[in-house]
Amino acid sequence: MKIGELAKTAQTQTETIRYYEREGLLPEAARTEANYRIYDESHVQRLAFIRHCRSLDMTLAEIRTLLNFKDTPAGSCADVNALLDEHISHVATRIRELKALEKDLKLLREQCASGQGADDCGILSGLEKAALRQSQNRTPVERGHAAHIHGAHPQVGGPPKEGGAGPAAGKPGRSRT
Ligand SMILES: [Zn+2]
Repeated sequence: MKIGELAKTAQTQTETIRYYEREGLLPEAARTEANYRIYDESHVQRLAFIRHCRSLDMTLAEIRTLLNFKDTPAGSCADVNALLDEHISHVATRIRELKALEKDLKLLREQCASGQGADDCGILSGLEKAALRQSQNRTPVERGHAAHIHGAHPQVGGPPKEGGAGPAAGKPGRSRT
């Protein structure tokens, strides 16, 4: 099948498929004489695997590692377990970050009790003060290595957008090897 058909069957956009190809997650497709890429059932299955992992908020690097294990079935799966443990810790970190975010937002919300003149709104002035502090500090807001768990706000990033799966989400963090 051609890429359009694969996209339809796997419910994945063609740019996403090309992106996964470039990233080496999908094996090179054979070419027809007219130089069309030609895909088969193995690509459909691999795409389904990748998409499922994406729905579990795994990074491309994590998925690549899993696919490597899948491609070498003789190896031990102890490392798969370790990868999962690590990813679970990413999720736990992100939950803590989101809880802290919720707390911050609730504190901010308490700055304004009732509707009044926007001039007097504690929320607006609180946001302004915080923005000023941040621009003075000039310290980049680092949300930790697990920022790829985009539970609350999808990461902004390049090509494949669907399901929040973007290359930004695949960037390995500082402390991850
Ligand atoms: Zn992870």
